[in-house]
Amino acid sequence: MSTADPLSTHAAAPGPAGDIVARATRLSKVYGSGDTQVTALDQVSAEFRHGEFTAVMGPSGSGKSTFLHCLAGLDSMTSGSVQIDGVELGTLKDRQLTRLRRDRCGFIFQAFNLLPTLTAMENITLPLAIAGRKPDQVWLDRIVATVGLTDRLAHRPAELSGGQQQRVACARALASRPAIIFGDEPTGNLDSRAGTELLTFLRRSVQDLGQTIVMVTHDPVAASYADRVLFLADGRIVDEFAQPTADAVLDRLKHLDARTRAN
Ligand code: ADP
Ligand code: MG
Repeated sequence: MSTADPLSTHAAAPGPAGDIVARATRLSKVYGSGDTQVTALDQVSAEFRHGEFTAVMGPSGSGKSTFLHCLAGLDSMTSGSVQIDGVELGTLKDRQLTRLRRDRCGFIFQAFNLLPTLTAMENITLPLAIAGRKPDQVWLDRIVATVGLTDRLAHRPAELSGGQQQRVACARALASRPAIIFGDEPTGNLDSRAGTELLTFLRRSVQDLGQTIVMVTHDPVAASYADRVLFLADGRIVDEFAQPTADAVLDRLKHLDARTRAN
C-alpha cells in the first residue's frame, strides 16, 4: 500500500467527537456559460464535525442540492476545495473519488433507490458486497434494531411501506460505518408519520452510533431534529444557528424568502 495514495488508510472508523469530518473552503459552482451562466454556489465555506447532525435550508434554488452534491463528490466544483475525512476531493481521480464515496460516505435521497429483486437485508448489505467487505454482524444487528426493521429483513421493497423502504435506505447508508451521511430531502416522499420516524432514526444514529449527518431539507420540523442549521440564499451561507426549533427556523426562512423575492 503506497503512502502516496490519499485513500490508503482504511476507511470508516468513526473519529472522536468534535473532529472535522467534512470541510468546504470557498466552494463555488457555476453552471453553464455566457448568458445562461448560473452561480449556484458562491464561495461557500463550512465545517462538519464528527457526531454532528447539520440541516441545510434555504429557499428553492438557493443552492442546497448543489452544495450537498459538491460536498459529497457527486458533482464537480468550479473552484475552492472540499475535504472529506482529511482527503482533498480535488486531488482524486474518478476511480479514487468513487472509492471514497463508497467507503466513507452514505447517501439517503428522496427516492429510496432500492433494488426491487433484493430483500431488505440484501439491499442493506449490497454496498458492502460491492466493496468486497464483510459485514460486521454486531454492527448490522444494531443498525437494523435502531431503524426498527428486525422483522422485515426478508421482505422485498414492494412488500414494505414507503417509510419502511426509506428506513432500509437509511440502514444501507449506515451499514458501512461511513464517516458521513448525506441526505437530500430524505423525508420528501414520506407522509408525516413516516417522516417523523425516519428523523427519529437519524437523530438516534447521531446520538447512539456517533454518526455525522448533513441533511438538506425545506421542512422546519425536519431541521429541528438537527444540532445546527445552515441557511443558504443565492448560493451563499447567510446564517447558521445551533439547537434549532421549528419556529425559529420558520421565522428565519420567512425573512430569507422575502429577501429573495425582493432581489
Ligand atoms: P436548491 O436545491 O436549493 O433548490 P439547486 O442547488 O438545485 O437549489 O440549484 C441552485 C441553482 O443552480 C438554481 O438556480 C438552479 O436552477 C441551478 N442549477 C442547478 N442544477 C443545474 C444544472 N445542472 N444546470 C444548470 N443550472 C443548474
Ligand atoms: Mg434541491
